[in-house]
Amino acid sequence: MTGHPAGGDPARFDLRGTGSADLARVRRWAARQLGDLDEPHREDVLLVLNEIVQNAYEHAGGARRLELTRHAGPCEVTIGVEDGSPTPPRLRASAGTGFGGRGLYLVDRLTTAWGSHDDLPSAGKTVWATVSCALAHQEPCR
Ligand SMILES: [Zn+2]
Repeated sequence: MTGHPAGGDPARFDLRGTGSADLARVRRWAARQLGDLDEPHREDVLLVLNEIVQNAYEHAGGARRLELTRHAGPCEVTIGVEDGSPTPPRLRASAGTGFGGRGLYLVDRLTTAWGSHDDLPSAGKTVWATVSCALAHQEPCR
């Protein structure tokens, strides 16, 4: 339970029973939660959460829950994806599992921080990432 940024009440989406075929629906839900963000910031958040959720589907025993937490000053969104595997995300770009190649590059480039923590007692973990508009864009969202 270390390294998870504090924030307000998150918006939660139950992902149990969903899979890769549901990614578009997950993105639409997230886009609605973030409807008041400026588009560049919202698009970055959607790209990152797409990668994390896809990773959970393909390499981490499935996704259980998505959380979006908004922060103001600086304007940031923290994505949290709970999955079914206690194994931390693998960082090796050449590995066949975990974040690799393009996915890792995207997450690294578009976030100010990311990591994971164990979810006890569910025997899974949460992968989290924080996307700030200060990183990729000049002006904070209105
Ligand atoms: Zn913003």
